[in-house]
Amino acid sequence: GVAVGRRVSSRRKWGRVIGVLKELEEGCETQVGRLKQVVDAMAVEMHAGLASEGGSKLRMLLTFVDKLPSGREKGTYYTLDLGDSYFRILRVQLGGHGSSINAHDVERQPIPEDLMTGGSKDLFDFIALVFKQFVEKEEYGSGYPFDRGGLGFTFSFPVKQTSISSGILMKWTKGFSIGDMVGKEVVKCLQEALTSKGLNIRVSVLVNDTVGTLALGHYHDPDTVAAVIIGTGTNACYMERTDAIIKCQGRLTSSGSMVVNMEWGNFWSLHLPRTPYDVDLDVDSPNPGEQGFEKMISGMYLGEIVRRVILRMSIESDILKPVSSKLSLPFVLRTPLIASMHEDDSPDLTKVTRILRGTLDVPDVPIKVRKLLVNICDVVTRRAARLVAAGIVGILKKIGRDGGGGVASGRGKPKTKMRRTVVAMEGDLYRDYSMFREYLNEAMIEILGEDLAQHVILKVMEDGSGIGAALLAASNSAGHDADDT
Ligand code: BGC
Ligand code: MG
Repeated sequence: GVAVGRRVSSRRKWGRVIGVLKELEEGCETQVGRLKQVVDAMAVEMHAGLASEGGSKLRMLLTFVDKLPSGREKGTYYTLDLGDSYFRILRVQLGGHGSSINAHDVERQPIPEDLMTGGSKDLFDFIALVFKQFVEKEEYGSGYPFDRGGLGFTFSFPVKQTSISSGILMKWTKGFSIGDMVGKEVVKCLQEALTSKGLNIRVSVLVNDTVGTLALGHYHDPDTVAAVIIGTGTNACYMERTDAIIKCQGRLTSSGSMVVNMEWGNFWSLHLPRTPYDVDLDVDSPNPGEQGFEKMISGMYLGEIVRRVILRMSIESDILKPVSSKLSLPFVLRTPLIASMHEDDSPDLTKVTRILRGTLDVPDVPIKVRKLLVNICDVVTRRAARLVAAGIVGILKKIGRDGGGGVASGRGKPKTKMRRTVVAMEGDLYRDYSMFREYLNEAMIEILGEDLAQHVILKVMEDGSGIGAALLAASNSAGHDADDT
C-alpha cells in the first residue's frame, strides 16, 4: 500500500529529473551539421560587420594595431590590466632579439564589487591608488623607470578606438555596469586619475586582451593569425587586410593589414542552440539582449547555467532539495566548481558531494543523482567548447584558411596546400579546464576533418593579454626604431 505508493512516486520523480536532463541535452544539441551552420554564420556576420558600422551584432572594431611585435622589442614595461574581477599591474622585461620574456604580476587586487557598478571616477581612482601604492613601495620616487615607453593599458571591454592609445567605451560586459562611463574616453579617465594622484605617466597603448594575446602569440610564432580568450568573458581578434575593412575605406593608411577586435561575445545567430535557461539568464542579467554568444560560453556564465538546471530539478523533485535557499542565489556556483565536479574521477564522486554540500547546501544524495549532476556539467561545457570551435573555424573561413575552395575532394582536383595556422588562446577555461579543451579540439577535427585540422594549432599564451600590451607599448614607443638598428 503506502510503501509501494511511495516507491512509485519516487520513481515518477526520478523520471521527471531525467526528463529535465533529456530536454537540456536536446536544447544543447551541437552536431557537426549545426556547427557548420554556426561557422558560416560567423563568417557572414564578420563580412557584415566589416562592411558597415552597425552592420552586424559583431562589431568588428578597429584597433590601430597594424604591425605585430617582431621579437626585437627591448626594455622594461609596465601594463595595467583591467578586465575581470582582478586588477593587475605587470612588469614585463624584454631582452630584444627574440630572447625570452620575463614577466610577472607586481600587484594583483580584487576589484571591490561596489566599484563594478558605481561611478567611473571611483573605479579609476581605485586603479590609480593601487598603482601609486606600488610606485611608493618600489621607492622609485619621481624617477619612474617607465617614462620613456609609457604604460600599456589592457582594457578588456568593447572600445571604439580612434588611435592605438585612445578610444571610447561602447558598453560594459562581464557584470561591470558603470553608467556614466559609457561613451567616455577610456585613457583620459585613467590619465586623469593618475595625474590627480601625482603620477605623471603617459598611457601609450590601449589594447583589448585578445589583441595583447595575438601580439604575444605572434612574437613567439609568426604563423599566429588570430587570438581567442575564453575566461570570464569571451572574444576573438585576428589580422585583417585593410582593403577588406570596407566601412573605413579611405580612412586607413594602406599599410596592408590591421588587427580587428571582433567582440564575438555579442555574436548571434538563430543556429545557436538556445535553451530556456539561457533565455532566463539573459533576462536576469544587467545586459539583456547583449553578449548572447558569451552567455553560452564563458566562465562567468557556465556555472550559472548549471545552477539554473539544478534548481529546476530541485523544484521538479525532492531528490535534490537544498537545505537552505543557497541554490537560488544567482552565480553561487562558479565555473571552477563545475569544472571540478565534471572532472571528479573518484569512484564515489566525493568532490561532487563536497560541492553540493558546501556550496549549494544540498545534503548527501545518492550516487545516481551525483552522476546526473556531472552529466549536466558535461552537456553545458560541451556545448560551449564546441561553439568556440565553430567560431574559430568561422574566422579561418573568413581569412581563407579553412581549406575552402579546392579541398582535396575527388581525384584530379589539385590539392590546396593548407598553410600552418596558429591561434593564440588565453583564459582559464581553455587553460585549466581540460574537458573543455578536449571538447574544443575534438570539434575542430569534426568540422575541419583530420587532414586540415592538423595544420591548425591552438597555442596557450599564458598572460598574453598583459605581456602583449607591453610588447605593443614597446613597439610603439619612440625609441623602438632606434633600438632596431
Ligand atoms: C569583452 C571583450 C573581452 C572579452 C574577454 C568580453 O566580455 O567584451 O572585450 O575581450 O570579454 O575578456
Ligand atoms: Mg584577463
